Amino acid sequence: MHGPFPPSLAQAIADAEARAPGEAVSVYLVGADGAWAFRALTNHSRRPLAFELDPLEWVALERAAAPGVCLVHSHVDGPATLSAIDVAAFTVEGRPLLPGLSLVVLALRRGRVVDEARYVFQGRGWSRVGRIDTLSLQSHREVH
Ligand SMILES: [Zn+2]
Repeated sequence: MHGPFPPSLAQAIADAEARAPGEAVSVYLVGADGAWAFRALTNHSRRPLAFELDPLEWVALERAAAPGVCLVHSHVDGPATLSAIDVAAFTVEGRPLLPGLSLVVLALRRGRVVDEARYVFQGRGWSRVGRIDTLSLQSHREVH
């Protein structure tokens, strides 16, 4: 069995740093053996905080029909949060773009990854995971 994320993001982080100041896109796929495999993807976008996946690469991902797909992309000098454009890009009619899709956003400063955020699709939207304690602390402070 596999969770929604690969055990290590090291390859995606190295790829994002190598492609800075451009925005990087990559993917981890669960193979038939249950192991996650890394694949760098092409980013055709020239806008900051945005990306355009290569249509042929995307079709190949859909055809792979992997039981787990973790798409990683970077925000160069931007926050480690899904942008409104990201949410629109990864959501189709209230469902994730691919079954079993999870998302990671890497934030870079001066060409180095300094923060990450992980998201899974729950209910009707993308929920950030892995920072539950911090978030509940923040909301606690805001209330009191
Ligand atoms: Zn983004």
